[in-house]
Amino acid sequence: MKTRREFLKLATLGAIVPTEIVAAARVVTKPVVLSTWNFGLQANAEAWKILSKEGRALDAVEAGAKVPERDASETSVGLGGLPDRDGHVTLDACIMDENGRCGSVACLEHIVHAISVARLVMEKTPHVMLVGEGALQFALANGFKKQNLLTKASEKAWKEWAKNSEYKPIINVENHDTIGIIALDTQGNLSGACTTSGLAYKMRGRVGDSPIIGAGLYVDNEIGAATATGVGEEVIRIVGCHLVVELMRQGNSPEQACKLAVERIVKKNPEKAREVQVGFLALNKNGESGAYCLQKGFNYAKHDSTGNVLIDSKYMI
Ligand code: ASP
Repeated sequence: MKTRREFLKLATLGAIVPTEIVAAARVVTKPVVLSTWNFGLQANAEAWKILSKEGRALDAVEAGAKVPERDASETSVGLGGLPDRDGHVTLDACIMDENGRCGSVACLEHIVHAISVARLVMEKTPHVMLVGEGALQFALANGFKKQNLLTKASEKAWKEWAKNSEYKPIINVENHDTIGIIALDTQGNLSGACTTSGLAYKMRGRVGDSPIIGAGLYVDNEIGAATATGVGEEVIRIVGCHLVVELMRQGNSPEQACKLAVERIVKKNPEKAREVQVGFLALNKNGESGAYCLQKGFNYAKHDSTGNVLIDSKYMI
């Protein structure tokens, strides 16, 4: 393989084509970590402790995802998450590494760090996904502690909701916020994690996009990584994050790929698209990143060597 210097020398002699010059001159931003929503700032800060010491992206995204999971005041992830319509807090999470290995849990109850259980599914079982009681038994067998995830505040909010509800899950732009976190480490490897308590007051047993590899998260170490937030049903229908990564493979920038995925959702169901929020966040192999969402209001945090900042996503509506 030619070094950058050799490429540039050849370029001045007119011996290579412009695309090769572009590739050789491109500066790779690494390490870098991106997380959805405001709580992404704290998640990134935790992940950065690992990435800045040349640690692995996989460890960084797990550590970052655990921050909102253990924060009882976050009502959309882990401890303190708003329950389903029957009052049960059920968690969905998945994780994927640079080797295409992945693990996932869905409808997991009583365990704060669903993301770590997902990682263990990846590392300790021949499977990708464990759900419900089986996921809980697996977690307990591996030393995780059973805990009540319904805080007083979430219980109060649920009881308030139940007074007037028609017993339908709420699907709108306010009642959801997943943490999706994607990173590129110093070695140039990508990983991602996604964890949520899902839509507030959902039907018992409902699973969204967040634990579905290809929907709520996808990583291809040759190309890039993507994660999603918003109404999971709409993301699953287009296998959103796999689509975003494939669109990057076709040469689209991360932002452009996210925009095309959002447009796909709108094209499939323009009426529905007006009522819901979906946001995609993507990172490519060069450390370039971008996002796009349906409705105004989605933001994400980005941490590289220049600092940790909150960025408003571009939006369609
Ligand atoms: N995507 C999540 C779900 O549908 C919720 C969210 O991101 O707000 O469960």
